[in-house]
Amino acid sequence: MKQKLRGDFLLILVLLAAAAVLYFVFRPGEGGAWAVVTVDGEETARYPLGEDLTVTIGGTDYNVLQISGRAAAVIDANCGDHTCIRTGTVRRDGEAIVCLPHRLVIRIEGGEAGIDGIAG
Ligand SMILES: [Zn+2]
Repeated sequence: MKQKLRGDFLLILVLLAAAAVLYFVFRPGEGGAWAVVTVDGEETARYPLGEDLTVTIGGTDYNVLQISGRAAAVIDANCGDHTCIRTGTVRRDGEAIVCLPHRLVIRIEGGEAGIDGIAG
């Protein structure tokens, strides 16, 4: 009897873990999440949060954007204050990294509103 109870408990744990994994993989609204880059108020690029990448934005004035684990962060920049680097990672709809000296904004756009943009 004790043995069987333990088996049931383990099975429930495994099922819960599987459900949690499925929840995080297929979380609604995150499928079409983007990191949208705007410079001087103009959108210059957008990168899907689902694909890990590191990209340098700009030339003389640069910010290095890293997307990793469905989150975006500025990991290097030559701006004076480095506020953009200290912001850390952003991952939720509407969160943003701002680099005032470079007039750069990296904003997270969630899935629902971005579906038309992907199709068009
Ligand atoms: Zn900065």
